[in-house]
Amino acid sequence: MDCIFCKIVSGEIPSVKVYEDDRVFAFMDINPINEGHLLIVPKAHAATIHEIAEADFLAVMSATHKLAAAVKKALNPDGINLLQLNGKAANQVVPHLHVHIVPRWFGDGVTVSQWELVAGDMEKIQGVAERVRGEMGK
Ligand code: AMP
Ligand code: ZN
Repeated sequence: MDCIFCKIVSGEIPSVKVYEDDRVFAFMDINPINEGHLLIVPKAHAATIHEIAEADFLAVMSATHKLAAAVKKALNPDGINLLQLNGKAANQVVPHLHVHIVPRWFGDGVTVSQWELVAGDMEKIQGVAERVRGEMGK
C-alpha cells in the first residue's frame, strides 16, 4: 500500500523516532506547529477512527499518555494540545490515523485551538444528543 506512515513504520522512509512498541510508533512531525510537535500512529494501517481496531486505538492513546508526560518533562510546556483529525472535511491530510502532540506556551501565537464561543440553540442540542444516544443504545 502506498501509505507514507506505513513506510515510516517499516523504515522505508526515514523518521526521527521517539517511541515504539508492538502496536505503536511515534516520531517527530517534520512541519512542526511548535517545538516538540510529534505524531503517534498505529503500526497496523487504519485510515481513521472508523477503521482502526479498538485495541490499536487504545494502544495509541496509552502511548500518547506516556509521551505527553515525557514531553512535559523534556520541554516543560505551559500546555499540550492533542489533535486527531478524521477525514478530508476535518483537514486530515495523511490517511493513516495519527494523534498529534503539540506542546504549547503562553503567547506562542498558535491558533489551532481557538474558536469563537457562540451559544447554541438548546432545542437543537437536545435533538442531536437524542440521536447520538439512540445509536449508543444499539
Ligand atoms: P494531518 O493528516 O492533517 O493530521 O497531518 C499530517 C501531518 O503529518 C502533518 O503535520 C505533516 O507535517 C506530517 N507529516 C507528513 N509527512 C511526514 C513525514 N514524512 N515525517 C513526519 N511528519 C510528516
Ligand atoms: Zn498506513
